[in-house]
Amino acid sequence: MKKTILASLIGATLAITGCSEQAPTQTSETAPAAESATMAVENPFFQASSLQYQAPDFRLIRDEHFLPAIERGMAEQLAEIEAIANNPEAPTFENTLVAMERSGALLTRVSRVFSNLTGTDSNEKRREIQSELAPKSAAHSDNINLNADLFARIETIYNDRENLGLNDEQKRLVEVYYQRFVRAGAQLTDNQKEQIRALNEEHSRLRNQFAQNLLAETRNIAVVVDTVEELDGLSRSQIQAAANAAADRGHEGKYLLSITNTTRQPILTSLNNREVRQRVWEASANRAQSGDYDNRPISARLAQIRAERAALLGYDSWADYNVEPQMAQTPEAVFELFGTMLPTVIANVEAEQAAIQEMIERRGGDYEVQPWDWEYYAEFVRQELYDIDEAEVREYFEFNRVLHDGVFYQMNRFYGITFEPRPDLPTYHEDVEVYEVFDADGTSLAIFYADYFAREGKRGGAWMSSFVGQSHLLGTKPVVVNVMNIPKAPEGEPTLVSYDHVTTIFHELGHGIHGMFSNVTYPTLAGTAVSRDFVEFPSTFEEDWAAHPEVIANYANHYETGEPIPDELLERLIQSRSFNQGFDTLEYISASLLDMEWHSLTADDELQDVNEFEAAALAKYGVDIPAVPPRYKTTFFSHSMGGGYSASYYAYMWSEILAADAFAYVQSQGGLTRENGNHYRSNILEVGNTRPTMESYIQFRGQEPTTDALLIRRGLQLSVD
Ligand SMILES: [Zn+2]
Repeated sequence: MKKTILASLIGATLAITGCSEQAPTQTSETAPAAESATMAVENPFFQASSLQYQAPDFRLIRDEHFLPAIERGMAEQLAEIEAIANNPEAPTFENTLVAMERSGALLTRVSRVFSNLTGTDSNEKRREIQSELAPKSAAHSDNINLNADLFARIETIYNDRENLGLNDEQKRLVEVYYQRFVRAGAQLTDNQKEQIRALNEEHSRLRNQFAQNLLAETRNIAVVVDTVEELDGLSRSQIQAAANAAADRGHEGKYLLSITNTTRQPILTSLNNREVRQRVWEASANRAQSGDYDNRPISARLAQIRAERAALLGYDSWADYNVEPQMAQTPEAVFELFGTMLPTVIANVEAEQAAIQEMIERRGGDYEVQPWDWEYYAEFVRQELYDIDEAEVREYFEFNRVLHDGVFYQMNRFYGITFEPRPDLPTYHEDVEVYEVFDADGTSLAIFYADYFAREGKRGGAWMSSFVGQSHLLGTKPVVVNVMNIPKAPEGEPTLVSYDHVTTIFHELGHGIHGMFSNVTYPTLAGTAVSRDFVEFPSTFEEDWAAHPEVIANYANHYETGEPIPDELLERLIQSRSFNQGFDTLEYISASLLDMEWHSLTADDELQDVNEFEAAALAKYGVDIPAVPPRYKTTFFSHSMGGGYSASYYAYMWSEILAADAFAYVQSQGGLTRENGNHYRSNILEVGNTRPTMESYIQFRGQEPTTDALLIRRGLQLSVD
């Protein structure tokens, strides 16, 4: 699964469609500060960039420019909002909503660059600025969202929206603004507004503490191993990295195994020593559950604050509140989705578990499979079934061929677009390449930054974001970036990538074109500014083209001999992708259910005991299978507790249903044709959030989606008997 993030701010819209497994980056806004007139000359953010499509001029940008520009941006935006709210003229669509759409230009400009650079090229100074800005953001948003005069104007327009001669997009904009303000608390009494502000303040403080604890704890719980023998099964370079990490932390002569993001740890696939496997797994699974960085009380209080906030806003639970504006609309729809899938998924898990148990016994083990054994023995089962040699596979996936002859080729065949290098445009790092994207008729569409290689200072995972959003109102064209963490080959050697990386390149450019094809008037409604459970649809849809016969025949050639990938190897590779999908799907669903349960609490429920709550939540849905723990547990579930995915972790699978259904439909209509590409582009990609997403889907597909194609996509057997 790949992930997404969408942070939308009033006035300053920042769309970061992240696909990493990490918690979403939050945008920050702070209080105003006066600036001297001379800074206007020196600070490059004070005017729009003069480069094509306002692409940031990285030659001029310095770290010391961010804070003054952000602070001035805040001040300007608040002044603009005040002027709109206090306008003596009667409220109109133009003098209120269009004025708001135009506001915050400086803040948007600098925030987008800053937020992108903290993700792709972080440093101490940038982290300091982040910390300084973070606590002020809730208050700043509240200052706008809870402005009674402003809301009164929006409400007047909203109530009269059918009589104002507005077109569909304008009416949609009125509705989106109205909902946003109501949902932030604009209709509350002054007393309630004070309560909301206090809850928001506490919430943002605890969220920050949750993240800080997790960061410190993850470092704290790394497993130290005394002898190299205990690392049997790891590669030479993994062992060297473990030795270096130990030395860095003062354990000279020992080995240090770091804990990564999810409950499951990738290293468990290859560690032969069962005791070490257990130590690694337990360090991961018990993360932030004791000691100085205990996230249990924080998690419990965060869930409670959300329930209290929901109650103030007139909802039974945070889940009711948060799912309402999504495509799913109600928590019941989410529970129903998982409920219908669970019997099939659990049947698959049982079959996988039986095969793993048999493998344990065949290899001389006399124990029942434990979570630290699963991946290890699954790898033997996988080898026996598919005999895949990862190194052999990579020789057919040379990075440049995958990019140019794979994904660019597919996009040319399907949408008619071409990518032309623009080495003249400045970048923020020498590894970043810039392209200009042209439509079939030669019209220039967008600027695209390709930042694919791993490096120090870049956060893990993969994501899409933009420096400039599309808007006919503002006359702006999209300036989009894709970020990944592909290990770069040494100078002079070709970079060979795994098939997972291949599909991620397709996935991220799927988000990329969602931004680049945007064809709307108002920035608030542009491109990827759709609900969370819709935004992963275009990206996941794009993934499946990587294996399309006409596409793969164009790029999967041996990097030395140029020979196409043998059919038989390709077949095994594709087949092996559906292996272990019962486990993968169940660990995801368990985490999603846990997230939904936490946020189904009401304001009357007392503060929960985290361990008891978690056990009861999993038991309730029959997903308390010891060998298949949830992908995240509460104390390190950043999406749910610390990040912006509370009551929304389900969204990835919701989007995948759309993607699988849409891809199957396109194949039934002739597959890789310009006609199909245009139909999909105009109904899904160009429209952004200018109409309800289900409406867009039905326009494209002719009906609502079903889960059939998803189960097939995941290789899950439909029959459970
Ligand atoms: Zn994504």
